[in-house]
Amino acid sequence: MPSVDIIVPCYNEEDGLFVFYDETTKITNNINNYSFRFIFIDDGSKDNTLEKLLELSKLHQDVKYVSFSRNFGKEAGMYAGLQNSSADYVIIMDADLQHPPTLIPDMIKGIEEGFDCVAAKRTNRKGEARIRSFFSRQFYKLMNKMTNNIKLVQGAVDYRIMSRKMVDAVLSLSESQRFSKGIFEWVGFKKKWIPYENVERTIGTTKWSFRSLFKYAVDGITAFSVAPLKMVTGFGFFISLISFIYIIITLVQTFIFGIVVPGYVTTLSAVLFLGGIIEFSVGVLGEYVGHIYIETKQRPLYITRLTNIQDECDDLKGNK
Ligand code: UDP
Ligand code: MG
Repeated sequence: MPSVDIIVPCYNEEDGLFVFYDETTKITNNINNYSFRFIFIDDGSKDNTLEKLLELSKLHQDVKYVSFSRNFGKEAGMYAGLQNSSADYVIIMDADLQHPPTLIPDMIKGIEEGFDCVAAKRTNRKGEARIRSFFSRQFYKLMNKMTNNIKLVQGAVDYRIMSRKMVDAVLSLSESQRFSKGIFEWVGFKKKWIPYENVERTIGTTKWSFRSLFKYAVDGITAFSVAPLKMVTGFGFFISLISFIYIIITLVQTFIFGIVVPGYVTTLSAVLFLGGIIEFSVGVLGEYVGHIYIETKQRPLYITRLTNIQDECDDLKGNK
């Protein structure tokens, strides 16, 4: 019987865990021929998420957990889940029931049709601030323009099932600053999308602020594209060209009309404009240097404090 691990990253989800487990098992219990198991990742929650998980795992054999020593972020949570899974198929889903478990049968069906990955896609952004949707759409457009080997899909979420082969491929990208949306696309494989209506979060609160989303966008772009660096080079070249032409014009004017004293506005504009461009370029460079710096440290993506998963890679846990 093929096995399926359901990976659920949780950060401060104490209120919803039992409901989540009940709702999801209602669906999985009706799927024969597959054995399901849950791997909850407690991402250093500050509430009683871990206690709830301990309780849940005492009640149900199919509940496994990995608890981090602190909050490492959802990306690390997903990575830990994948690393700790040994199943034939892996499903990643959120703990807040925004990823409807009713899609699981469709996902399994897709796998049986021969796809390596069946992923959910939101058809609308109900319950989300307009401005956030707008920026999100722009981000996808920009990202796709800047990268050649990945095409992000509007509305794609992390909710998906993957075959063992794809999971191993995802794990083989061991970068510590992970942008999973890009990684899932980058590894390729045969993919099927299933659309679903966005569900508003009813339990708990979202962990995303506008600022963290902006940072996420910048990290996503720098992780998969060097287009900004090329853009800066292009900028530099363009400005040098204009400056050169302007110098020639000024020289000719000086030769013909002699030295013209006024020039306050031009000088000031040039200094301020160039200053701005230089600052900007250094900033872009800095983003990449920062990423290199973090990557070279090769720190583990997460540190496990407590887990009930025992297998051969026990002593590797928490290490890349
Ligand atoms: N999450 C996590 N670590 C974090 C933030 C979030 O594991 O640092 C989990 C969270 O518990 C949830 C999922 O990631 O299961 C998605 O988070 P959230 O619902 O806040 O994001 P949204 O649905 O608004 O994108
Ligand atoms: Mg959510």
